[in-house]
Amino acid sequence: MRQLIIIGSGPAGYTAAIYAARANFAPLLIASSVEAGGELMNTTEVENFPGFPQGIMGPDLMDAMRAQAERFGTEVLLDDVTSVDFAGDIKKLSTGSNGDFEAQAVIFATGSAYRKLGLPDEDRLSGHGVSWCATCDGFFFRQKTIAVVGGGDSAMEEANFLTKFADKVYVIHRKDTLRASKIMQDRARANPKIEFVWNSAVSAILGEDALNGVTLTDTVTGATRDLALDGLFIAIGNDPRTHLIHGQLELTPEGTIAVEGRTSKTSLPGVFAAGDVIDPSYRQAITAAASGTVAALDAEHFLSALESPVTS
Ligand code: NDP
Repeated sequence: MRQLIIIGSGPAGYTAAIYAARANFAPLLIASSVEAGGELMNTTEVENFPGFPQGIMGPDLMDAMRAQAERFGTEVLLDDVTSVDFAGDIKKLSTGSNGDFEAQAVIFATGSAYRKLGLPDEDRLSGHGVSWCATCDGFFFRQKTIAVVGGGDSAMEEANFLTKFADKVYVIHRKDTLRASKIMQDRARANPKIEFVWNSAVSAILGEDALNGVTLTDTVTGATRDLALDGLFIAIGNDPRTHLIHGQLELTPEGTIAVEGRTSKTSLPGVFAAGDVIDPSYRQAITAAASGTVAALDAEHFLSALESPVTS
């Protein structure tokens, strides 16, 4: 049995691991079978993480966090947690390829997942013109006409990035005002390749084998029209990844894991949560990292108070 297992390899998981490893808890961090590093692996330049005045690429930042966690004795396992049983004193986890694990404490830092439009052809045409990741798929749209859906920072960032490849990038937004921060808005508005399509919802995704357009519904008048496109990037936010703990941990009305005040303590002793999975509001790399620190300190306190700590 381990003292501490951390689930998730974003800024929250890695920061929790750095703190817990430095406190000699030799944590096991279960990342993901596909790619360690979380959402920032799909980001380009991170300009607002303190300490990097020239900015840093998302994957470089995450590789550095991982190296820092490993330097102090964190074991990183590339696998998916498939089920958990957190009810008893011994926390049990099953993984896709490496069997079962037990721990005295767990930090749950699974982040959030891309939100979908909920349209019938969205999944069918995913990878065939429909994408959630500009940095992954932008390259395929050289000199094409594409659209980004959404009005937040992600949509602005994706739209700007995609103008490196595409000739024309529409930003389709259901309102006539953006949620994005001013600097990101200004950058998108100043980009000659970007055209905003206001008060418009994507009501259908068109195409047989590959996307060739969308149907837009005017959110004010209800009028519909088709827009020809080679690609559609969906950037409408994220939902906390809580499927593993449904029925075990209390959730908030927003769907995040409920924690006690400013702590990381969930509704079960020995189970701590950090990062986007507890945060409906801020969801920044730096706030997730800070949240990981809180979880590590809470877990450390919990483990130190146990009568029979595991010595590893
Ligand atoms: P947000 O929740 O901020 O924005 C989501 C956008 O998508 C909103 O404009 C929303 O519309 C729209 N939307 C939501 N659901 C739908 C739907 N079903 N159909 C159509 N449109 C929809 O998410 P983001 O991913 O943009 O940002 C998340 C967090 O990450 C934020 O805190 C953001 O600041 C941060 N971030 C920061 C970056 C940076 O600083 N470089 C880069 C990227 C993200 P409406 O406005 O009408 O609600």
